[in-house]
Amino acid sequence: MLKNDLLEQWDRETFFHPSTHLAEFARGNLAQRVITGGSGCHIVDRDGNRHLDAFAGLYCVNVGYGRAEIAEAIAEQARELAYYHAYVGHGTEASITLSKMILDRAPDHMSKVYFGLSGSDANETNIKLIWYYNNILGRPDKKKIISRWRGYHGSGLMTGSLTGLELFHKKFDLPLGQVVHTEAPYYFRRADLNQSEAEFVQHCVASLEALIEEEGADTIAAFIGEPVLGTGGIVPPPAGYWPAIQAVLDKHDILLIADEVVTGFGRLGSMFGSGHYGIKPDLITIAKGLTSAYAPLSGSIVSDRMWRVLEQGTDENGPIGHGWTYSAHPIGAAAGVANLKLLDALDLISNAGAVGQYLTAQMADSLADHPHVGEVRGEGMLCAVELVREREGRVFFDASEKIGPQVAAAMAESGVIARAMPQGDIIGFAPPFCLSQKEADEIVGKTRQAIERVLS
Ligand code: PLP
Repeated sequence: MLKNDLLEQWDRETFFHPSTHLAEFARGNLAQRVITGGSGCHIVDRDGNRHLDAFAGLYCVNVGYGRAEIAEAIAEQARELAYYHAYVGHGTEASITLSKMILDRAPDHMSKVYFGLSGSDANETNIKLIWYYNNILGRPDKKKIISRWRGYHGSGLMTGSLTGLELFHKKFDLPLGQVVHTEAPYYFRRADLNQSEAEFVQHCVASLEALIEEEGADTIAAFIGEPVLGTGGIVPPPAGYWPAIQAVLDKHDILLIADEVVTGFGRLGSMFGSGHYGIKPDLITIAKGLTSAYAPLSGSIVSDRMWRVLEQGTDENGPIGHGWTYSAHPIGAAAGVANLKLLDALDLISNAGAVGQYLTAQMADSLADHPHVGEVRGEGMLCAVELVREREGRVFFDASEKIGPQVAAAMAESGVIARAMPQGDIIGFAPPFCLSQKEADEIVGKTRQAIERVLS
């Protein structure tokens, strides 16, 4: 790799970092971290420091770092055929094999996979397919998309609109007009503290019904949601939420997109979040865990009922006018095939379920008596600690105090990477699936120490 003494200077002078305070970084007030290697659950930086990566990059390096099997599959594919496109019926052995492997793992009613490169572009594809679908069915006004506040679906024009987080809208002239947002299924943050979980689910359902009524069901094409809210706070849904929402959507003939970019391929300890919660989606968005981020690749898994209409559309209108140069890129596809084989061979999804449950249980136990811990929650290999000023009456800190980022920074100093989630003082954990109980114990211990350091 490139080694030179100017790297840090070049970084500040030339590199536009995503999701970064640009001015603070350029001024040198924001730490640089140049990562040079990784193995299992650990990464190594340029100064030789080893960190336990309790967020698996951006919850994506699911099989862990340094997997030779995937690196070799990528190298072999690059030597044999680095690229060919997928337009007009073309394919590669890797891309066709991967679509078969995905469908073998997806819910039975799913039919085909369209490949992209990122979670954002896969969701853009989904919205285009839904609009096309309703045009073919002669419903040109049924186009709006319902998303949830705190949902995260990407940061493009449409996907940034679907995302329900303030930072992704502010000063970008988003959301676009075709997107409307509804209540987040976030029980800890419910407005009425006296509500039971079941009453809160009814409240979410009533809010959705009211929104549909107000907009008109004949203007609403689809609802998009992550099985477990991710970037919005790592929030598993309250019991009964998904069946209740699905019933409303079915009643109004509204399609459902399950955005499984985080949950797909095992993060909940099940292959898909849809199966985990009994959701029956029309489209499933996949990305991160498809290749464990060894190469960029995403996908839209399309249901039978949508597929039939898409075929009808091309009979009536000619080839589908949608495609990327890099759709089904063979190097990404080869990485995907090797990654899915590795998940099976090492039984990593079972480990994600078992050690993930252990992590959340230990975290809850360790922080149970802490006056600034409002809630510890999790599902599978996802866990979150939500910090509060006062437990009594659930009083939050002011955002300007930056408590979450301070705790994450204190953890990083002690060698564990967690993520300060962007809205609220929420420390997020999404380790690689190969996490051991000993590593889980280390994460729990360092979390408690960091909270004590910042909030003593
Ligand atoms: N959907 C979900 C649920 C995500 O968590 C993300 C990214 O974190 C995306 C979509 C967007 O994926 P990408 O960053 O690859 O565009």
